[in-house]
Amino acid sequence: MTHLALLLSRYVNGVSMRHEEVSQDMFPNYPIDSISNGVNAVTWAAPPLARLYDAHIPKWRQDNFDLRYAVHIPVEEIMDAHRDAKSALLAEIERRTGETLSPTVFTIGFARRATPYKRPDLLFSDLSALQRLVQRVGPLQVVYAGKAHPRDEGGKSLIQRVFEAANSLKETINVVYLEEYDMALGRLLCGGVDLWLNTPQKPLEASGTSGMKAAINGVPSLSILDGWWIEGHVEGVTGWSISDDPGPESRPDEEIPSLYDKLEYLILPMYYERPTEFARIMRSCVALNGSFFNAQRMVLQYVETAYRPRAANYWGDA
Ligand SMILES: *Cc1c(COP(=O)(O)O)cnc(C)c1O
Repeated sequence: MTHLALLLSRYVNGVSMRHEEVSQDMFPNYPIDSISNGVNAVTWAAPPLARLYDAHIPKWRQDNFDLRYAVHIPVEEIMDAHRDAKSALLAEIERRTGETLSPTVFTIGFARRATPYKRPDLLFSDLSALQRLVQRVGPLQVVYAGKAHPRDEGGKSLIQRVFEAANSLKETINVVYLEEYDMALGRLLCGGVDLWLNTPQKPLEASGTSGMKAAINGVPSLSILDGWWIEGHVEGVTGWSISDDPGPESRPDEEIPSLYDKLEYLILPMYYERPTEFARIMRSCVALNGSFFNAQRMVLQYVETAYRPRAANYWGDA
């Protein structure tokens, strides 16, 4: 079917630059371009952040490029809006599970389909290293969500592994797993946590979109360099990479230590000791990535490079 589709298509694109490269290697006989995915900014902005943008950037809803002007929002106001988004998430977690998470504790979010290549258990690769890290640099809590396909046994056993890890960590790290992950819960999560964690096995993440939803809310990512993050990542500006190896295949022996090192030496100390610096990173997520990884920009690119007849191509190549 893929060959048939490629043969009969006038234009073919991947959904990120890396997806273009990987697809071009798989199908060398067809020219493949890329148009990077984007998410609907108005849908994914949590209400407190949307109100903040309304006050400072009145036209951001009509023209998401205006999110670029988030660079001028005072960081204190970003921190206040995020605090409100975080309380809304914590209240919903309490309502659903009875668990009370702390609004002042650094909170990692991980939510996506539970399927093996997403590696939700990578954070739990070395439980004693994780416990030592928390004792040295400060408390941590983790919120998971994500359903497995009913016939995906690998996905289901991953959820069990997360529960087992949560249970053995319960004296030091509060880990909650939320059921029934859907868009409403996704919006609360992407806007309400302090860090969005993404650990796919390279090169299997064509794009990934939940980190874009987080960026629109000023939530930085800690992510493997795959899919959209290769484009969205500016180290220490929009978030952090897990391993700086740009190679095409995952190397867990480098990724696991890097994941713990970034948390221990960069992210947690900044969050607890230099909150203003952390908030500047939040702001640059909105300005650099919210203004770009949105559906308005994506649709414009489809119109200009995919849908428009070649002769009238805006970019001038006939
Ligand atoms: C955004 C979203 C996804 C996709 O997340 P990825 O990071 O692209 O895997 C899946 N499920 C829900 C409910 C979402 O909101």
